[in-house]
Amino acid sequence: MANSGKSAAVSHVGKIRANNQDSGYAGQYLFVVADGMGGHAGGDVASAIAVKRISEIDRLYTSPHDAEFALQSALIAANSMLAETVFEHNELTGMGTTVSGILRVGDHVAVAHIGDSRIYRLRNSKLEQITADHTFVQRLVDSGRITPEEAAVHPRRSVLMRVLGDVDASPEIDTAVIETKPGDRWLICSDGLSSYVSDEKIQTVLTTVPRALDAADRLIKESLDQGAPDNVTVVLVDVDDTDDSSHLPPITVGSAATPLSFDSDSARRALRLPTLLLHPLKATQPDPSHFEPESDEYLDELIEEDHRRAIRRRVTWLVGIALIVIAVVIAVILGYQWTQTHYYVGESNGKVAIFRGVQQNLGPIHLSSVYQTTAIDVSKLDAFTQKTVQASLSAVDLAQAEDIVDRLADAAKQ
Ligand code: CA
Repeated sequence: MANSGKSAAVSHVGKIRANNQDSGYAGQYLFVVADGMGGHAGGDVASAIAVKRISEIDRLYTSPHDAEFALQSALIAANSMLAETVFEHNELTGMGTTVSGILRVGDHVAVAHIGDSRIYRLRNSKLEQITADHTFVQRLVDSGRITPEEAAVHPRRSVLMRVLGDVDASPEIDTAVIETKPGDRWLICSDGLSSYVSDEKIQTVLTTVPRALDAADRLIKESLDQGAPDNVTVVLVDVDDTDDSSHLPPITVGSAATPLSFDSDSARRALRLPTLLLHPLKATQPDPSHFEPESDEYLDELIEEDHRRAIRRRVTWLVGIALIVIAVVIAVILGYQWTQTHYYVGESNGKVAIFRGVQQNLGPIHLSSVYQTTAIDVSKLDAFTQKTVQASLSAVDLAQAEDIVDRLADAAKQ
């Protein structure tokens, strides 16, 4: 769906999730993406409450800094609403949401951001990520503990350090004022896009698809092509030389576009209803929460856990290699012992001799040695027998080897 040629908002549940916990808004000056999570299927409620509350500030501001202040205040107000909702509905405990939004004022945009949704600006065909993810792995990258490549496959990559929710009364929200100009294309997306579609691919789509809605649809399709394990939401804005970015009514997508199973007005009334009634309305599987509160102790704990995991991996490797080495050594010893139960008769320094082992050599290792040299001269044997002895005569055991020697002694006498 789109509200004009200049902006677009599209949200898709993806291929795995049962419900869409993302919400998106493309208005006249304001553009927002929120990605909800956690609690008893509260993610859709969280992102919807946040986007609905923040969309109330969609108007023209007199300065970019006024817009920045309004945007930040709206996020804080949304945070309070989430806390109140959880207070009234215990089953929603732990719900939270990311929010990334821009509010345009002429040739500037005010930016507010918390969580791991992203804001990008495409300018002169170059894509630039404006926001930094508030994730545990981004912390590790920033502090030089892991590389961005390691972060992309880290088992804790979805752990968020900051969100709006019922956890923190004064959430740490990143805000900024950034200049913009006609020709800029702004993208706001949930991690359902950025975790599965590369920046290079996003840049190519934004550069080559002119119409905002077409480009948004293409980005959703790119994520679906990657399997879309998560909900995916894309809000696109093309900046031109007019003040606002839309002439048509604002558009809301994702869970904010569908009626909530309750809203904050009816929440008080819902309190009088048996709590059980709320559950059938939310026929969704609770997602494992991937929000973790920000605290130094917690961060230390996660880093410690990461170290332990690395050590465990190394130990597992070493034990594996040691077991293989031990197995090979045992096989060699058993193999060698087996060869030493065998005998054969051959020639040693011109005499007939009994050898223990097998004739084959294992590389530089000889698997046989002279067991007993006899007094029989090989040259005393007839030509055919000489050749047979030189080629060796195998025996199943020592007794059979001795029989062969006896027969050769008789032959030598003739
Ligand atoms: Ca997500």
